Amino acid sequence: MSTILLAGGAGYIGSHTAVELLNSGYDVIIADNYSNSCPEAVRRVEEITGQSVKVYELDIKDSVKLETVFSENKIDAVIHFAGLKAVGESVDKPVIYYRNNIDTTLSLLECMTRYSVKNIIFSSSATVYGEENPVPYTEEMKRGTCTNPYGWTKVMMEQILEDAAKADKELSVVLLRYFNPIGAHESGRIGEDPQGIPNNLMPYVAQVAVGRREKLTIFGNDYDTPDGTCRRDYIHVVDLAKGHVKAIDYILRNGGAEIFNLGTGTPYSVTEIVDTFEKVNGIRINHVYGPRRAGDLPESYANADKAFKILGWKTEKTLADMCRDTWNWQKNNPQGYKS
Ligand code: NAD
Ligand code: UDP
Repeated sequence: MSTILLAGGAGYIGSHTAVELLNSGYDVIIADNYSNSCPEAVRRVEEITGQSVKVYELDIKDSVKLETVFSENKIDAVIHFAGLKAVGESVDKPVIYYRNNIDTTLSLLECMTRYSVKNIIFSSSATVYGEENPVPYTEEMKRGTCTNPYGWTKVMMEQILEDAAKADKELSVVLLRYFNPIGAHESGRIGEDPQGIPNNLMPYVAQVAVGRREKLTIFGNDYDTPDGTCRRDYIHVVDLAKGHVKAIDYILRNGGAEIFNLGTGTPYSVTEIVDTFEKVNGIRINHVYGPRRAGDLPESYANADKAFKILGWKTEKTLADMCRDTWNWQKNNPQGYKS
């Protein structure tokens, strides 16, 4: 049985991935400093799967502490989720973002080298396609110009990982470029639990639905899109998590250096998200139209063919599933894990 270290595994995508890996017969170890998550999320992963997860509470930048994870366990592959991810905050606190996101990556690579761990999967983002690439994005496009430090950290980390793989022919690197993960596990026990005011659309909609926020502001309705609002490639977090299992199967079997888009290939507008959430859940979402948000692209969506062709992975859940599962999580956990 292979053992997978999830760096940042207590977070939104990591916790869902832990469930799918455990259900697929992998052993899971989580290392997280809970800067944007909590131990309860891991407890619920154990509850859902009926299996136990070894957890290390530590800062991954701290390579001395991180080394204990590698010395105490035989790790077959690492999935690197650990990062700060709030786009707006990254504009105000760029140094904190560069320090955290780059250093976690370097610490992991150093420990992996020391302990001959040869497989790493990295949580990248569609944001690396930048402003100049046309949609739909394909993996061979050049990385573009990002509009914020968060995006640049992803570009830089991709580069670091590619350089490391070039230098060490035995090191296998898979870069997974996520589109817009939303939704929650169908049990309603784990889901997205943002601290403070949500930056992302779906958690904001869910908090309006549950009465924590008064109204949603839709950022701009004068884009050159079918209904004037921005379009994104929303992907159910459980589909995304299953993509990680396929990527782990692949990297352990084949190795190499690959990039995969993880998206559905179908964009939906902000208005379509709000309408679907209302219809599926029978709840009205109070909303107003406001000005554009700085840095937003009109459209972002994947060509998801490569992941299907090589990993045999494609999304199975619909937008209605995403809206239903988000609400199931939010209504059962109105204050997130603190409920
Ligand atoms: P998240 O914040 O829920 O999870 C990240 C986890 O990493 C958290 O548990 C946090 O406590 C931990 N962490 C951060 N810095 C750490 C450090 N120095 N040491 C130890 N733990 C640390 O975010 P998520 O939505 O699950 O995203 C996971 C990854 O996917 C991130 O790298 C993010 O940038 C990337 N990503 C997310 C999205 C999205 O929309 N959610 C889209 C594209 C890419
Ligand atoms: N959005 C919005 N109101 C909000 C949050 C987001 O209208 O309160 C819009 C945003 O302008 C974008 C889409 O919803 O067009 C998705 O935004 P999110 O931040 O979730 O993802 P990203 O922009 O990073 O793709």
